[in-house]
Amino acid sequence: MSGTPPPTRRPGRGPGDARAPRIGTPGGPGASRAPGTPATILHVDLDAFFAAVEQRDRPELRGKPVIVGGGGPDDRGVVSTASYEARKFGVRSAMPLRTAGRLCPDGIFLPVDGTKYQAESRRVMTILRRFTSRVEQVSIDEAFLDVAGSEALFGPPEQIARRIKAAIHDETGLTASVGVGTSKLIAKIGSDLRKPDGLVVVPPGEEAAFLAPLPVSRLWGVGPATATALAELGVATIGDLAVLPPDALTRRFGKHGADLVERAHGIDRDPVHEPDAMKSVGHETTFDHDTSDPEVLERTLLGLSDGVAWRLRGMGIRAGTVVVKVRDSGFRTVTRQAPLPEPTDLAEPIYQAALALARPEMRGKRIRLLGVTATHLDAPDQLGLFSADEDRRHRAMEAADALKRKFGDRTIVRARLLDKGLPAPFERDPSSPLARRGVDEASDEPEPVTREREPDADAGTEDV
Ligand SMILES: [Mg+2]
Repeated sequence: MSGTPPPTRRPGRGPGDARAPRIGTPGGPGASRAPGTPATILHVDLDAFFAAVEQRDRPELRGKPVIVGGGGPDDRGVVSTASYEARKFGVRSAMPLRTAGRLCPDGIFLPVDGTKYQAESRRVMTILRRFTSRVEQVSIDEAFLDVAGSEALFGPPEQIARRIKAAIHDETGLTASVGVGTSKLIAKIGSDLRKPDGLVVVPPGEEAAFLAPLPVSRLWGVGPATATALAELGVATIGDLAVLPPDALTRRFGKHGADLVERAHGIDRDPVHEPDAMKSVGHETTFDHDTSDPEVLERTLLGLSDGVAWRLRGMGIRAGTVVVKVRDSGFRTVTRQAPLPEPTDLAEPIYQAALALARPEMRGKRIRLLGVTATHLDAPDQLGLFSADEDRRHRAMEAADALKRKFGDRTIVRARLLDKGLPAPFERDPSSPLARRGVDEASDEPEPVTREREPDADAGTEDV
């Protein structure tokens, strides 16, 4: 989450601590997602994930400022995760390692061990799926759950949240923070509020009062530009925004303005999407200058395929079909699709299929835009089972992913992508549940640059 650093005090575990802070204006607008909506949505977010895994595995690192993201403060690249001890020095995700080294001279710098974190992530997601099938993983270390229907087996949502936290701790040695509410928006903000090892439950009807005292930058869709514009209207907190007439916001920000007022009241209608309910994962890019250069076009398709495959692996799902989109300089757009020989989450087969589909459509034309999308998604990976051969390929790909995280996604270790002239291949994906809503999202860091990052394609940082 954005806006303010997390509270430093550790929450207690008594029943009273799980309740939402009774702050703000209880008499204020109290609308929930819809009257009578039960608070069954959970957001589960591992605390300082990469650093916590390292501290778990190497006891000598416990209590020390651990900075995951590279070999040392002289490395290029950025901080992926800082332990809470390092955060006391001001070290934050996405910060250049050099800056982190200056702020925290005694910091212990570690490389990103992508294979280990992916495996750990799968273990945690498998735990979550024991409590409901309605799990939407949104990054390597966080997921939304809808536990409506699980209550007969596991108790009310707050109890489910406690059981999940305990199971994660007992089985992986890691801590997670959980928010519980009537919507993803409330659950997400709640999970961030009392990190680490936090639990915040917002009862139905108390959303607006819960949000009111928080800075407006915590709301999805409020980036630095919007925050500045809102400040000119005298809006500092979400409560300030909630009392503004929606008309005024609509005049100033268009439809986005009306959405913001709804969110300020805690209203968010986006349901928890299960992986197999998700329709597609795609990336597209528009060239700075229309091009007919086959080398540029093919390299772009490769970059897009890499990005799609990386996200599929991150979500533990595979695609059965590839769709390409080709728009020429005259704005004529064609889409072509073909099934893959077998479901995959690897870049190479996706690229081969995309190239075969796109080549006839690109011939003799100047191309303005290319897109690669994977569809017919399934989740065969829920138990982490791969064939031996596939397991080897995955290990290789995950090692590449780790490099990508370490050095940034523009420096993928594929020789063909290293040529100059490659357009930025990874754009915000409109099918991502977070990107779809213009989420300004994914970390509690104050730096705008962090908040503007796309959570899924994010090359180096994981949410705290
Ligand atoms: Mg996290």
